[in-house]
Amino acid sequence: MKAAPEAQRRLLDLQTVDTTIAQLQHRRRQLPEHAQIARAQAERAALGERITAVKTRVFDLEQEQAKAEADLVPVRQRRERDQQRVSDGSITDGKQLRALVDEIDHLGRRIGDLEDAQLDIMERLEAAQAELAELTARRASGDDALRALLGARDAQLAELDAELAQASAERATIAATLPADLLAAYTRTAERSGGTGAALLKAGRCGGCQLQLNTADLERHRAAAPDEVLRCEECNRILVRTPESGL
Ligand SMILES: [Zn+2]
Repeated sequence: MKAAPEAQRRLLDLQTVDTTIAQLQHRRRQLPEHAQIARAQAERAALGERITAVKTRVFDLEQEQAKAEADLVPVRQRRERDQQRVSDGSITDGKQLRALVDEIDHLGRRIGDLEDAQLDIMERLEAAQAELAELTARRASGDDALRALLGARDAQLAELDAELAQASAERATIAATLPADLLAAYTRTAERSGGTGAALLKAGRCGGCQLQLNTADLERHRAAAPDEVLRCEECNRILVRTPESGL
């Protein structure tokens, strides 16, 4: 392939811009905020599941509490009625009176049991409510941290995108000056060689693979016409000669 020496040298400018673009894109992908945000979001989801579970527990305990309260009402009413009957002297039969007093005793124990159960539910409900408040507060502070991370990520992305836009414009300007076949050869080579399509030949060394050219290749390159497009025998990258090549 042949191309004007100036066009070949502009490949090095294009390479510089392309390397910058690749670095910017790498930084864009590797922002530490990406991993931090993913972690924060996973934590948020896990917290959300726990909050849902505790909310269900609070709801269930509230139902239990209401039921325990309702269970107590008829028993208390009955004891009150019995006590009324005992104290108003309406029962005169001794046997009947003893039975009533026994029942009042029994109802008293039953009320004690129900009140114990009610207290137990209340303690569990308070513990669940405290846990819910703690988890909700943790999620709120996690959300604040997540918002800060998203803001920091977006600010950095905006900055990198602005740099990328500038580099892309620069790239387009350089690419527009290159012959189509040379640009295509460079692009193909860059794709196959980790992003580096053209390298400077300097001090007998390929700037792409950093290997020293052997004497025969060096002689051949030295003898080649200036518009001949050279390739590194080792890495196949386009070797660009400039006055600093020292050929
Ligand atoms: Zn090479």
